[in-house]
Amino acid sequence: MTVAVVLFTADLRLHDHPPLHAALASADEIVPLFVRDQAIGEAGFDAANRRAFLADCLRDLDAGLRDRGGRLVLRSGDVAEEVCAVASETGADEVHMAAGVSAYARHREERLREALEADGRRLRVHDGVVTAVAPGTVTPTSSDHFAVFTPYFRRWAQERLREVFGAPRTVRVPKGPRSEEVPARGDVSGVSEGLAEGGEEAGRKAFTAWRRHGLAAYEDNHDDLAADGTSRLSPHLHFGTLSPVELVHRCRDAGGAGAEAFVRQLCWREFHYQVLAARPASSHENYRDKHDRWRSEADAADEVEAWRQGRTGYPMVDAAMRQLRHEGWMHNRGRLLTASFLTKTLYVDWRVGARHFLDLLVDGDIPNNQMNWQWMAGTGTDSRPNRVLNPVVQGKRLDPDGEYVRRWVPELSPVSGSAVHEPWKLPDEDRERLDYPEPVVELAEGLARFRQARGLE
Ligand SMILES: Cc1cc2nc3c(=O)[nH]c(=O)nc-3n(C[C@H](O)[C@H](O)[C@H](O)COP(=O)(O)OP(=O)(O)OC[C@H]3O[C@@H](n4cnc5c(N)ncnc54)[C@H](O)[C@@H]3O)c2cc1C
Repeated sequence: MTVAVVLFTADLRLHDHPPLHAALASADEIVPLFVRDQAIGEAGFDAANRRAFLADCLRDLDAGLRDRGGRLVLRSGDVAEEVCAVASETGADEVHMAAGVSAYARHREERLREALEADGRRLRVHDGVVTAVAPGTVTPTSSDHFAVFTPYFRRWAQERLREVFGAPRTVRVPKGPRSEEVPARGDVSGVSEGLAEGGEEAGRKAFTAWRRHGLAAYEDNHDDLAADGTSRLSPHLHFGTLSPVELVHRCRDAGGAGAEAFVRQLCWREFHYQVLAARPASSHENYRDKHDRWRSEADAADEVEAWRQGRTGYPMVDAAMRQLRHEGWMHNRGRLLTASFLTKTLYVDWRVGARHFLDLLVDGDIPNNQMNWQWMAGTGTDSRPNRVLNPVVQGKRLDPDGEYVRRWVPELSPVSGSAVHEPWKLPDEDRERLDYPEPVVELAEGLARFRQARGLE
């Protein structure tokens, strides 16, 4: 009887899972294993929203395995130690896992390989699980990564993707390996009220609904904040309850401008992965130094707190920040605008904002969060590093009737139409009736400070 361990990490699904597929093809029995990595908790990265979504994912994975005759084995601690212990308890000679895309994941993989080999066992690492195209697969001639999106996208789109694997029919797990109880979302406190449901079943339903009702109009609707016209699949991509290879294949099969635009967005995710894989220090250091002397959190304590609470006095910024707190998710346009406001208008260090996002975002992901923050701060890969988004102009463009603002900032619900974007222009008697703050800073003042700091004046 041969046994193999399948170590799940950021790939919490049964469909289109190359490590599972390979293990089932080569061993008689498999041990589906997830290790709650103590290092992630120690780094302060296990925010409540992601822990709750993860609990849903683990429950659903366990249920899916049980339907097929197996079960999930759950352990907590040091990943290398726990995997070696499970392999030795079950006599497994191989461990299968997805290739990691972050510096941390690659380091963990190396440690695991060494520990297993010292025990006479083998680690088999599979590409095309967490990303469609592995970071580093396509590179320009003169560098180890692409620093500009469009040429990366052209090359990425030409890569031949592997076929999609179905979910297994049966899974045989050896008797014996001890498992901790699979957690429930209800065990986690401090979770956002409107947090989406996690798990592969929820992810597949969301994708099916998206393909039927959202994809075709994506190109036209993705910037309309009130219409909520994006897929909201980011948490499922983050936890791997959906496979990026499968998504790309199925969207290409659907065809059309919406599908093309959506696949392009999926590529943005992989663009940031390949930047951070080549420049791991960019998770905390400027990718391109602009010699900023950012204001720290202490320098701008009240303004940062107003930003976090959605009380800056700029309705679009406040609406987006409140959506983040309520749902653990924010529309991409909201992310760009609130990041521009913090880094450019308030001139506060991008790391202060990135940390707050990571504390709340259910899809919070070091490569995509940090590199998008750097993009907006102008220290990343944006070719226009000094662009500043004006919350009033953006509000009128992305939320012309003010519906998104009124949804998230109920104090402003008496104000109709696009006037909601400029409450300071209301007649005094109307303005006084609103329990809504004055702007924390004048936009012109913020802009002048930023331009001076960047040496543009
Ligand atoms: C300051 C800032 C922080 C961000 N932090 C994160 C983060 O922590 N995790 C995260 O997954 N995304 C992050 N993004 C990117 C983007 O905002 C989200 O991926 C997107 O809003 C998720 O919503 P959706 O699934 O409806 O996207 P859709 O518009 O439906 O796009 C489909 C998928 O494409 C990918 N995608 C789209 N835009 C981007 C982008 N700009 N960068 C990378 N991938 C993209 C996502 O995987 C997304 O699910 C951040 C953007 C900004 C500006």
